Amino acid sequence: MTSSATHAPAHPTASILGYPRIGPRRELKKAVESHWAGRTTLGELETSAAALRRRTLERLRELGLGAEDSAIPLDFSYYDQVHDATLALGIVPERFADVRAADGSIDLTGSFTLARGEGERVPLEMTKWLDSNYHYLVPEIGPDTAIGYAGSRRVAEVREAAALGVVGRPVVVGPVSLLLLAKAADGAPEGFSPLDRLDEVVEAYVALLADLRAAGAAWVQLDEPALTSDTWAASPAQVRGAVARAYGVLTTAEVATGGRPAIAVAAGYGALGDAIDPLLAAGVEAIALDLVKGEVPAASAPDGATRDFSRVALLGGVVDGHNVWATDLDRAAARLEELRALGAASTGVTTSTSLFHVPHTVADEAGNPELPAQVASWLAFADEKVGEVLALAAGPEVATAAFARSREVAADRAAAPGVRRAEVRDRTGSLAPSSFSREEYGVRRAAQEAVLDLPALPTTTIGSFPQTGELRRARAALRAGTLSDGEYTSAMREEVARVIALQEELGLDVLVHGEPERNDMVQYFAENLDGFAVTQHGWVQSYGSRCARPSILWGDVSRPAPITVPWATYASSLTTAPVKGMLTGPVTILAWSFVRDDQGLGETANQVALALRDEIADLEAAGIGIIQVDEPALRELLPLRRADHAAYLDWSVASFRLATSGVAAETQIHTHLCYSEFEEVFDAIDGLDADVTSIEAARSRMEILPAVAAAGFERGIGPGVYDIHSPRVPSQTEVAELLRGALGSVGERTLWVNPDCGLKTRGYEETTTSLRHLVAAAREVRAGL
Ligand code: GLN
Ligand code: ZN
Repeated sequence: MTSSATHAPAHPTASILGYPRIGPRRELKKAVESHWAGRTTLGELETSAAALRRRTLERLRELGLGAEDSAIPLDFSYYDQVHDATLALGIVPERFADVRAADGSIDLTGSFTLARGEGERVPLEMTKWLDSNYHYLVPEIGPDTAIGYAGSRRVAEVREAAALGVVGRPVVVGPVSLLLLAKAADGAPEGFSPLDRLDEVVEAYVALLADLRAAGAAWVQLDEPALTSDTWAASPAQVRGAVARAYGVLTTAEVATGGRPAIAVAAGYGALGDAIDPLLAAGVEAIALDLVKGEVPAASAPDGATRDFSRVALLGGVVDGHNVWATDLDRAAARLEELRALGAASTGVTTSTSLFHVPHTVADEAGNPELPAQVASWLAFADEKVGEVLALAAGPEVATAAFARSREVAADRAAAPGVRRAEVRDRTGSLAPSSFSREEYGVRRAAQEAVLDLPALPTTTIGSFPQTGELRRARAALRAGTLSDGEYTSAMREEVARVIALQEELGLDVLVHGEPERNDMVQYFAENLDGFAVTQHGWVQSYGSRCARPSILWGDVSRPAPITVPWATYASSLTTAPVKGMLTGPVTILAWSFVRDDQGLGETANQVALALRDEIADLEAAGIGIIQVDEPALRELLPLRRADHAAYLDWSVASFRLATSGVAAETQIHTHLCYSEFEEVFDAIDGLDADVTSIEAARSRMEILPAVAAAGFERGIGPGVYDIHSPRVPSQTEVAELLRGALGSVGERTLWVNPDCGLKTRGYEETTTSLRHLVAAAREVRAGL
């Protein structure tokens, strides 16, 4: 047990775990992308980035966060926080060994090369950050990967902030999370886990902490969000063991003698659970707990021993970093009281996660016609959340105005028209089991075969066709008001006609209209359903320089009028081939929006499902016999704790079935899932009961098919035959071989032939040739049956 905690500087009473890094007008995105395009030098990029960091410090100071030292997080990143931590340890995959300088360091250009790939060298893989829609770059670590402290930009950022008069709190992904988020490098022996390299990683962190301290950091925030999940290959006991080992070493140096900064471990995204015990035992100086999704720790450990909080600062993450609703300050204050009751050395107020999941400020939405002022008054983006943290730290006696306003907002929101609508509630309240199921698959299959008359191995695409510059310009002109609604619609109809003619010429069996009218597969529906609002400047980072603008689902959802029906019927009128209707499913609409927090997700999902069910009924009545409902986010929302999986899969699968089960037996329902980890959620995919399921199996050369067959999946399946994430054109022979291979596992009446995702990010040239090869290969294999 270390004695350093007693000499630790006081942790600020009000802090945030992180702030949006992209800039209120996406300044960072623009600066980084113009550098990539060769329009600016590295020096110019660094100057823009420094200006943005300065603006952030000044803004946070203006908001009142600068009153206490170490309250302002230093969490800037040019690309991604996991990548930054990986590079600080000098970790690069073998194929990129040359980006590391002789002293082990990796410069900014090298860091971009790893992130974006170069020629034949594929970039680091990206994967989902916890249960968010942010994607990080996955470190690749093998038994021989060189690991050693290689310098970190944070050190210079601490000095930069100091020069501006701010003692900042540098933020770094912690060692245990970094290794849990990593993957074993190619060629690592069976049974190797990146966690096996913990000791070397921790050594490097010791050097990093010393460097930060020398630069003037009094506190460091080590983000350990992985501790809130139990879905890792390592067992919870192994994870606790790793925490004990890592933090036992990191706390060895004395804070008092300047050996390291005081350590605040931040565990956002859920409950920390028993992983708190090794942190307490190691003597970290502060622990930030997610009290939005997680819970106030119990007073005693699972073994019955009373937990000793007397030497730690507990930071209550009561302001939601991951959603946009104004905090109910009374409720948050009550949670903080529970936390205080644990008898910690001190307690503070913070956010549940970094605020980089939410936009900069609601003030930017003034005058947005798509966001009613009343709804805007219920929201808190990053800047407003800083105000909430400060109000909670001051307490209800002092921050009387903020608490009074919070009560007003809660009352206004609960009573506002549109939040709870009787006609919507009556529908979700009177659902019967029959609302969730169709006829037996055998009956449907026979009925569909009779009306659709498709060949064996039918060919189709996933929905979108290339989004050309012309389409994007038309959308921009519509927004700018230089193109009228009517002119825009005609331009899009012309595009639909072109796409239909192309597909006929290519000889595809099931056509699509190409989705030219959709800016985004979720926002498009949000704009056309009641209960959603859309922001103008509400960009949040999705990965690297890429941003998304999630819609805000604030009220009861219904469909005022048909959305896709005119597009589908127009497309269908141009051809005798079947045209597939195209919708986004309820789970994906929820996953890629900010969702209301005043009711369970299942209830909200059912409302969206019923709106889609209406759309599907109208498509069917208009003669559209095949309808695809995309659920690429089904796996994305999977909870971080295994114990919560069953309940999640129950409501998510049910909402898809509710949306799709109102149709006649002969109407064929398709779904598309953007991943191929079929096994993990196999029961859920089976439970969707779609007639045809397309999945992204191209990159893995369809290795999953035998497992799919073994599991007894008997409905239609379209394992993507080529990877649309790359411009590479597959040859006819290659596709034919894949199909013959697939027929070894799945029957000829079951196999569909399609690319592995939508084509919107591709160019026409490669798309046309690829699809030509795909059709030719299907015909070749079909002829040999
Ligand atoms: N139908 C959508 C498209 O083709 C599906 C996209 C996705 O799966 N993300 O673009
Ligand atoms: Zn996809």
